[in-house]
Amino acid sequence: MRKPIIAGNWKMNKTIKEGLEFIDGVKGKTEGDVEVLICAPFTLLKDLKEATKGTNIKIGAQNMHFENSGAFTGEVAPGNLVELGMDYVIIGHSERREYFNETDETCNKKVLKAIEVGINPILCCGETLEEREAGKTIEKVKGQIVNGLKDVKPKDLEKIVIAYEPIWAIGTGKTATAEQANEVIAEIRNVVREMFGELADKVRIQYGGSVKPANVAEIMGQSDIDGALVGGASLKPADFLGLLKF
Ligand code: PEP
Repeated sequence: MRKPIIAGNWKMNKTIKEGLEFIDGVKGKTEGDVEVLICAPFTLLKDLKEATKGTNIKIGAQNMHFENSGAFTGEVAPGNLVELGMDYVIIGHSERREYFNETDETCNKKVLKAIEVGINPILCCGETLEEREAGKTIEKVKGQIVNGLKDVKPKDLEKIVIAYEPIWAIGTGKTATAEQANEVIAEIRNVVREMFGELADKVRIQYGGSVKPANVAEIMGQSDIDGALVGGASLKPADFLGLLKF
């Protein structure tokens, strides 16, 4: 049985004060048979980690560098995330791929580094609208997964979460239908199966793209969808709590 994982991706939103107010708003209301995660900006992580002590809310980062240290101005080293007790790190979100030149190769280095330092990576993949309309969804996503998971050892596979996020559905209000999402996610699991055999059944694969309380149950009701990565609807306590009711 794969434990569902609902993750908020706050992107570049909220100050420390606003983040702590959010935690006050959800504290004590998130317990259940679901893994609950908030991926926040770096500057909030220490305070959020402290504020969520004793709750089931896990805290993650939205990126990290693949080198341990060095001349990489403005980047954040994996060791810092380890010291902060981060549970997860998002790798290769489409916004990072689009605006910050992340490639399958850098994502792969980050996935391998995250595993090495003991942080669970959430590897993102997804197609553009043009790619979908050209019938290239599976080809695109397959490349991202095969390259992103290169050199991962079978024993570490379970630590990785995959997030399928069609780019045309992120922050647009356009959700892939639950069936469309499930179809691609089943294909992603097949790709993982080609690489790792039966271990593929242990990997959790989330859907992301305009998930909200009103559609989360339908999405989570699909056979291959194990969770959601949520941007906009993770920012307000009431919405976030609504995402946990599916
Ligand atoms: C995301 O940030 O990964 C995302 C899916 O955003 P939204 O839920 O706002 O579409």
